[in-house]
Amino acid sequence: MILRTLADLRAQVAAWKRAGESVGVVPTMGALHQGHLSLVSAAKQACDRVIVTIFVNPRQFNSPEDLANYPRTEIEDARKLAPLAVDVVYVPDGAQMYPEGFATTVSVGGLTDVLCGANRPGHFDGVATVVTKLFTQTQADRAYFGEKDYQQVQVVTRLARDLDLPIAVVACPTIREEDGLAMSSRNLLLSDRARVYAPELHRAMKELAQGLIAGKDPTLLHMQAKARLDRAGFTKVEYLDLRACDDLSLLETPDRPARLLAAAWLAGVRLIDNIAVG
Ligand code: AMP
Repeated sequence: MILRTLADLRAQVAAWKRAGESVGVVPTMGALHQGHLSLVSAAKQACDRVIVTIFVNPRQFNSPEDLANYPRTEIEDARKLAPLAVDVVYVPDGAQMYPEGFATTVSVGGLTDVLCGANRPGHFDGVATVVTKLFTQTQADRAYFGEKDYQQVQVVTRLARDLDLPIAVVACPTIREEDGLAMSSRNLLLSDRARVYAPELHRAMKELAQGLIAGKDPTLLHMQAKARLDRAGFTKVEYLDLRACDDLSLLETPDRPARLLAAAWLAGVRLIDNIAVG
């Protein structure tokens, strides 16, 4: 069932809660792919009722062109969700989420100073604000997010804890294409030629991670990875960082649980990825 208003959503959730049913939510911006669907499957396994939200959140885009170009495929999305028997697809419009006079921002400190936070000013404020609203609107017991957006999972976990929101944030593994490219709605924006070279990001990261684990020189490994990306046609590497899993502090070597995270531009499309190291 597709619901478009908060009033309808609230009535449905209230009925479930009266019946003692647990509720899971999967927040998305649509243009659904197997990565999103894996979150839905995880939610279905653990929750009596599952809500998928589809909202292209203007507040988390830091460029008007990016917002305008973001793929919107609502009919196709509904077709993909049908076999999964989701209970509600919640598709609010902008006025529903941000009515006239809306003036509140949720901002998570520290974690958002680096990586995507440093490169996309305001992005995580937009994410934190919309996610807080979706959590309170859906009254969900569990929320499902992808590790593909690793920093986002950290930010959302932090905000739920800091604001005492009664919701468990569940992180699910990144789903990849056969050639290793992390699935992303933005992959639809890649030209055929760029799509051929896009998996080089994941390959360069794997090579770098393996080198770090083997104790090779981090500076040399970073240079090699950047040269590989350069050869593949990536025009800008925003970051290619080894960071601590818990607080995202920068590391030179994986001497504690670590993650390699990258953002890079290929033919006008910004791709991000991350992998565990060790
Ligand atoms: P988005 O529609 O891009 O905002 O993503 C909605 C949710 O799906 C977020 O929690 C993402 O981290 C997650 N997601 C996106 N791509 C993938 C993927 N390849 N594997 C797993 N989860 C993903």
